[in-house]
Amino acid sequence: MTQESARLIDGNALSKQLRGAVAQRATALKARGITPGLAVILVGDNPASQVYVRNKVKACEDSGIHSVLEKYDASMTEAELLARVDALNQDASIHGILVQLPLPAHIDAHKVIEAISPAKDVDGFHVASAGALMVGQPGFWPCTPYGCMKMLESINYDLKGKHAVVIGRSNIVGKPMALMLLQKNATVTICHSATPDLKAMTLQADVIVAAVGKQKVLTADMVKPGAVVIDVGMNRNDEGKLCGDVDFEGVKTVAGYITPVPGGVGPMTITMLLVNTLEAAERMAGS
Ligand code: NAP
Repeated sequence: MTQESARLIDGNALSKQLRGAVAQRATALKARGITPGLAVILVGDNPASQVYVRNKVKACEDSGIHSVLEKYDASMTEAELLARVDALNQDASIHGILVQLPLPAHIDAHKVIEAISPAKDVDGFHVASAGALMVGQPGFWPCTPYGCMKMLESINYDLKGKHAVVIGRSNIVGKPMALMLLQKNATVTICHSATPDLKAMTLQADVIVAAVGKQKVLTADMVKPGAVVIDVGMNRNDEGKLCGDVDFEGVKTVAGYITPVPGGVGPMTITMLLVNTLEAAERMAGS
């Protein structure tokens, strides 16, 4: 390996492999008369959300998971949405429920997520799921950090005793990411917008996960040679092209491994949604 190029962790290739395994498990469940089912609720017409839900539904179809897409007008009330979630909680053909965020401002997203049965919380956003991760009990892990862990697993990376730096502390990426790394015995540092010297932190890291939402938050001078760099960010660059938080061209000359954007964490997030849905169906089937 030359220092000109870190090795790529290919999220598309890994997703293909993992989705193949999901399809096999779905077939096995179907043979027992159970078709795994995911319900996706979209409220309003946010263009990005429409693309996300379409991709999720398509991925389900490709992996033998039945999916139901419920689209509602932005004028839907909170009470109406809560009633839909409740109905899906009772629906035996549905094993996973996903409410696409963001919701319109008049709906309390936290209240809606908390209304989802934890047994069907395949996004892993329910407080019960977060608590289970915190205390190391079985539950559903949020798909994006879960996908990052699978990427590390795919290169047989042993996190024990390694220093991992997570940039970002959101409830859906940064915080659960840090807990998952901790569970694998890494020493974890969480950085955020009030971290005074980000570079001083990242230069110590064996693993860096960037989950900020700003391009070029991580540049080559901030990375220890050979470090593993996972880029969760999804941004548009000045030319309008999709890019991550990491200055890919620069950082790949220093890092040992790097994930690209696109084709990195993005496809893994959807893959882990399929894995969680399958897992939910298997748990409900008692297998
Ligand atoms: P978020 O809720 O906006 O959180 C961003 C975090 O970055 C916050 O904790 C913030 O700190 C921190 N931050 C902001 N500026 C910083 C800086 N200059 N230095 C260090 N930390 C800084 O975002 P998110 O939902 O976690 O998402 C993060 C990125 O990942 C976004 O680009 C999003 O689109 C992307 N994403 C991708 C996927 C995927 O499937 N690939 C899935 C989810 C999210 P404070 O807490 O102090 O404000």
